[in-house]
Amino acid sequence: MKIIQIPKTGGAEVLELVDAPIPSPGPKEALVKVGAAGVNFIDVYFRIGLYKAPLPFTPGNEGAGVIEAVGAEVTDFQVGDRVAWGMFRGSYGEYVSVPVASLVHLPDGVDYTTGAAAMLQGMTAHYLSHSSFPLKPGDQCVVHAAAGGAGRLLVQMAKMRGATVYGTAGTDEKAEIAKSAGADEVIVYTRQDFAAEVKKFTDGKGVDVVYDSVGESTFLKGLDILRPRGMMVLFGQSSGAVSPFDPAILNQKGSLFLTRPSLAHHCLTREELNWRAGDVLGWIGEGKLELRIHKTYALGDAAQAHRDLEGRGTAGKLLLVP
Ligand code: NDP
Repeated sequence: MKIIQIPKTGGAEVLELVDAPIPSPGPKEALVKVGAAGVNFIDVYFRIGLYKAPLPFTPGNEGAGVIEAVGAEVTDFQVGDRVAWGMFRGSYGEYVSVPVASLVHLPDGVDYTTGAAAMLQGMTAHYLSHSSFPLKPGDQCVVHAAAGGAGRLLVQMAKMRGATVYGTAGTDEKAEIAKSAGADEVIVYTRQDFAAEVKKFTDGKGVDVVYDSVGESTFLKGLDILRPRGMMVLFGQSSGAVSPFDPAILNQKGSLFLTRPSLAHHCLTREELNWRAGDVLGWIGEGKLELRIHKTYALGDAAQAHRDLEGRGTAGKLLLVP
């Protein structure tokens, strides 16, 4: 079979298409023929070595496909089941053995492309809006990179929960995409001062929560637009990591709360995984949550997919189809 392998960390050129034997599933694993694999910013972090994995490794934390074999201890999944996952690395390949603890069944009518596009960013948007800061009607939030993969889904879920959403986006075209996802206002933060704009929208009061996946270029300014005891949910760093800072700033700016959450810590049990994946896939099936596929690439074009994602020119989901 063909897989993408990373022999050493570095630029997109380290993503190599190589031959490998089809793996045998371990006792608690299922061998899945991959129908589609999601491309996420976390794959870039592993590729450049910001997040660590033993070399060589196959990137890709998300995918969907059909089970072709199961390990001896597997009871809840069987050959022929259509499945998806969003938290197991090794998805950039024609086959992958996935621990069944990470798998969910794909509902009828949800295809592999949709399943692979929904899981990681969808469950992330779910935990951000339902758990990190559970939004309620009347809340006001900022969603940075609101036209991005995770951002666009978060905008939609925040609207479902009755919040007012101020999005940010890098271009006018992306601003339109964020608006069409439901954002009440969108600030083009490459030419507008997002803090000044948000203060205007909120009559100087500030928002209840900032969901920040951009990091370095937005984080400190984001603390200025929170209401007293508001919450900064820093969940990514697409512009670079936030520099160390004095926690006394949180006091000076209004007894603020700060969290730096991960999806893994929000799917700790089978019940939690089923809740989040069930909501996300269910809403997609019912037409309540809309995915936007930016582009589908051949497996051998993984490097180009990474260049596109890092190059800031994408809006929505990037997928590899083996
Ligand atoms: P996106 O589709 O959001 O792509 C990244 C976007 O970030 C770009 O399109 C761009 O949008 C914006 N951006 C701002 N500054 C830069 C920059 N200097 N370089 C590149 N991009 C920039 O990607 P994902 O949806 O895959 O991921 C978004 C973020 O969410 C990532 O940081 C990721 O790590 C994080 N994440 C965290 C999870 C968690 O559980 N903690 C889980 C999933 C994702 P624009 O042009 O509009 O500014």
